[in-house]
Formats: sequence, C-alpha cells, structure tokens
Amino acid sequence: MNLKSTLESQKKYFQTQATRDIGMLKKLLSVFRTEILNREEDIYQALHKDFKKSKFESYLGEIGIVISEIDTTIKHINTWSKPKKVKASLLNFPSKDFIYSEPYGSVLIITPWNYPFQLAIAPMIAAIAAGNTVVLKPSEHTENTSKLLESIISSVFKPEHVKVIEGGIPETNLLLKERWDYIFFTGSVAVGKIVAKAAAPFLTPITLELGGKNPCIIDNTMSTQLIAKRLVWGKFINAGQTCIAPDYLLVHSSVKKQLISDLKKEIINAYGDNPQESPDYPRIINTKNLSRLTSMLEDSKVIFGGHIDTTDCYLAPTLIEEPSLDSNVMKEEIFGPILPILSYTSEADISTIVSKYEKPLGFYVFSTNKLFYKKMIKTYSFGGGTINDTMIHFANTNLPFGGVGESGVGAYHGQLGFDTFSHKKGVVIKGNWLDIPLRYAPYNNKLNKLKKLFKFLG
Ligand code: NAD
Repeated sequence: MNLKSTLESQKKYFQTQATRDIGMLKKLLSVFRTEILNREEDIYQALHKDFKKSKFESYLGEIGIVISEIDTTIKHINTWSKPKKVKASLLNFPSKDFIYSEPYGSVLIITPWNYPFQLAIAPMIAAIAAGNTVVLKPSEHTENTSKLLESIISSVFKPEHVKVIEGGIPETNLLLKERWDYIFFTGSVAVGKIVAKAAAPFLTPITLELGGKNPCIIDNTMSTQLIAKRLVWGKFINAGQTCIAPDYLLVHSSVKKQLISDLKKEIINAYGDNPQESPDYPRIINTKNLSRLTSMLEDSKVIFGGHIDTTDCYLAPTLIEEPSLDSNVMKEEIFGPILPILSYTSEADISTIVSKYEKPLGFYVFSTNKLFYKKMIKTYSFGGGTINDTMIHFANTNLPFGGVGESGVGAYHGQLGFDTFSHKKGVVIKGNWLDIPLRYAPYNNKLNKLKKLFKFLG
C-alpha cells in the first residue's frame, strides 16, 4: 500500500476543484450504478463465499440500498449543493445571507463486515457527492467482497478520487496516523474509540456508526403472531449480524408464553426444521465470532435452537428464556442469531433493564397503545427506531441513520449524508446602498437606540 502517495495525489486532485463538478459527479455516479448492476452476479457470489448470504438478502440489504442511494443522490445533488438563501438579520441590513456547502477534502471511510458492500458504498456516495476524495478501507473478514469492491470502484473512479485500500488492523492503524479532513467509521464501540483518539490530535471531524444492545418492548395489545413474524425477520436476517437487529425482548408477562410459541412456529416457517439446510440462512462470519456467541449459550436456558456446527460456522436461530442480567448474553451486544426473552409486569421493570445499558442504536416497541409507545419514544434515548416492526426505519432515506452516546456520533442517508460530508459555511453579502451609522464609534448616546433595536429584534 502506497498510502502517502495516494493521499498526496488525492489532496492535489481535490485542489483542482474537479471533485466539485456536479455534472461530472452525476455522470460518474450513473456509470457506477451501471457497473454495480453489470456485476450483480459477482456481488452475489462474493457475499455467498464470505458468509453464505442469500441473493435475496444481498439485494435487500446491500445492492438495492446502494442503488437507491445513488438514484436519490443523482436526483437531488443539484439542489443539495446549491447555496441556500436564508433570512437575513436586521442587524446586518441591508444584506443577503447564504449557507454554502463545501467539501472537507480527504475523507477516510472504514467499514465492517456485516453488510460489507452497502456499508462501504453508501457513505462513499455521500462523501463524493459532497465533493470529497475518498480512501475506503473495507473489512478484512469479508475478503471476497472487499476484493470485488476494489475491482468495481477502480474500474469507475480514478485513484486520486476514490481508492480502496484493503487490509486489517495494521493497515487501519497506518491510515489513522495520517491527517484526514474527515473520518467516517462504521464498526464496534471499542474500535470507534480508537478512531476518535486518532482523530483528536488533528481535531479531525468524525462520524462513528457503532452498535449497542437494542431493546424490543412488547406489551399485550397486539397479535403475537404478527409480532413473531416481524421479529423473526428482523432478528434472524443476516443471521442476526445486523447492528440494528433487536438484541433482546422485553415482553409483557401475560403474553410471553404465546409469543414464544409463535416465535418457534415462525422460525420453522422461515427456515424449515433444519435452518442449516435453508439457502436463506447465512453463516456466522468467522470462528472467533462463533465461539463468542457459543459462550453466550453456556450460562442461560436455551428453549429453542442452539445447534452449533463449527466446521460450517453455523449457529441455529436460538431463543433463550429469562437470562439473568449477569449472564454472558446480557453483558454485551449479541450481534448473532440469539434472542433472549425477558418479561416485565410494570414500566418500572422496563426502566430497570433498558436503563442498565448504554444508549442503543435501535429501539423497538410493539403496541397499539399510542400513549404507551409515545411514552417509550420520549423516555428513552436511542439512535432510531420503529414501532410495530423492526429495523425498517433504515430504509427511508429521509430519516437520519446514526447512534447517540455509545451507539455513535453523527448520522447519514439521503441529504443527511451529503450534509455530513459538507462543512456549512455561513456567508453574508452586505449591500452598499445604505450604511447605518449606529454601530460606529464614537458611541456617545447610542446605547439606548441599540437596546431598542435588540428589543425590536426580540
Ligand atoms: P470492528 O470494529 O471490529 O471493525 C470495523 C473496522 O475497523 C474494520 O475495517 C477493521 O479492519 C477495523 N479494525 C478492527 N479492529 C481494529 C483495531 N484494533 N484498530 C484499528 N482498526 C480496527 O467491527 P466489525 O466486527 O467489523 O463489525 C461489528 C460491529 O459493527 C458491531 O458492533 C456492530 O454493531 C457495528 N456496526 C454498526 C453499524 C452502524 O451502522 N451503526 C453497522 C454495522 C455494524
């Protein structure tokens, strides 16, 4: 990896202003779109080789989202990038006031393995749309997808504009030693802190898209069958390796038994009696993660699933009933196909459990009781959430996607992605046809007039 020369050539290219040519960016994005669709089969194959992701989930969670981000960007980039006229302050009369969006410059994007295509390309699109250059460091754990990312991106973008640099921890550390104008990181809380530390000496602005323990609260006002269907989808898609998957259930004790029975039925409906044979059920990314997940089954009561095949990195969709809050499964983010089911009888029980953890990335409530779910939304701090379903807030590019507290800093998707990668410059263009003398010295007895003016502005 010749990092120094890559970064240097990107900085030079940025200075030419070429990265801010909207016409060129739209053309490039449309060529990129075509290239992604031309390579659709290769993408499916790479994701399948990496962890047996099905074609359907590869389109839903990776290709489809990326294509939709490209389309939204091409459609709106002219409007997003135009200076926005804002109401001027009477204090500056006469003037015209604007917010200019300017790119930061050289952006570093570091990505995880669980949605290795989408989580690399979605921020990259936003970064280049805003006029930046990008160095993209995909995950070393999905090497087939990472190689393909490199191949697709290098066939469309010049390396001085966008460059993929593959590698693991040593390569990431080298990248983090350089001075970037913006760092966008998606991954674990622990590595997020390493990124924040590396950014601090240069005061480099960062976005951290992290994870956490996402609660799913279920009262007794809804059909448990519908809840089970939506939960099985949200929890076991990508074999639970989704940052916004529901981590644990907090279900009203009066419906727990019925919900468990419906969850078992829905798991079988989705993946059959032996999910290992289902073409739709992915594998755990590697043996390290499999053994981390296996240890979560050791001190809790498994009531469904639990089957492990280390030779195939397989862990069945698994239900755990009433684990202790000190058990392995309740200590950290699960990030796998294990669903602990805890029950509650009062809102105080909910508070005891939810408040025990850091602010989560996702938050879910199943309830038809408006007062209840609105109270939950207001009471708890979380990145984003869905009522009466799981994870679908991710799909709307009009909604910010990001965490709060330990689950992350900043957000993106749609226009917010463009805004994340742009510095907003406030600019006043002063008129010369009038020059009100009030502000100039000598001030003499002007103070009262100034007070009156501020009062008027109110
Ligand atoms: P990770 O933090 O281990 O790795 C992410 C990236 O950081 C990789 O590119 C990796 O090479 C690099 N990295 C790993 N260890 C490093 C170190 N010590 N020093 C420097 N760089 C290092 O995360 P992961 O295992 O790939 O992904 C799982 C985590 O990511 C989960 O916690 C999940 O919640 C989170 N996640 C968050 C989002 C989101 O959008 N908020 C999306 C997906 C995953």
